[in-house]
Amino acid sequence: MSGMSAQPDFIPLAMLNALAYCPRRFGYEFIQAEMLLNEHVVEGLLRHQGVDLGGSAWNGEAVQERRVYVWSERLRVAGFCDLVESRGGEHYPIEYKNGRPGRWHNDHVQLCAQALCLEERSGVRIERGYIFYFATRRREEVVFGAELRTATERVVAEAHRLAATGELPPPIDHPAKCRECSLEPMCLPNELQLLRTAPAWEGDAS
Ligand code: SF4
Repeated sequence: MSGMSAQPDFIPLAMLNALAYCPRRFGYEFIQAEMLLNEHVVEGLLRHQGVDLGGSAWNGEAVQERRVYVWSERLRVAGFCDLVESRGGEHYPIEYKNGRPGRWHNDHVQLCAQALCLEERSGVRIERGYIFYFATRRREEVVFGAELRTATERVVAEAHRLAATGELPPPIDHPAKCRECSLEPMCLPNELQLLRTAPAWEGDAS
């Protein structure tokens, strides 16, 4: 953290995933650091054990480096790539995710941010990366096109802005996302929505 303010110097890459999903989720996981250790999180951590050990190894034609620390001075973000694979002169990040491909592209933002860091460190453009989903046991290719790069940089800028406020953003009005969110029992988006829309209590008129 910076000495003069609550604003962090660097935002962790995984927190960009949270913010791309929901600003309030970012608020809990980063600003308030109150991540619920529920079964989804625990299972995710266990799944990650196979790729959390670090080191590099040949896999067929590819060299795979595990747990690679990357950062960007320009964007002020930092974190780990689960895997960086080099094959045929190309290198690219691979992220491992519990569950199946999501509908919201937050995993894509996290992976693209990893690529932006790798590009800044290596000076070589990275065209694509991959996300491996344990539920489907398949790699999804993610192309780092202009739209995803712009979206990722916007998320980074928003992360710094929100972190500087130090405040927990309000719930989003998105029932489908909230249903799939592990923080729902703590966040109570429906209850807060009811409170917001309930008529104000007028108190005792006497
Ligand atoms: S429950 Fe909904 S509003 Fe709350 S953190 Fe999750 S996605 Fe965001």
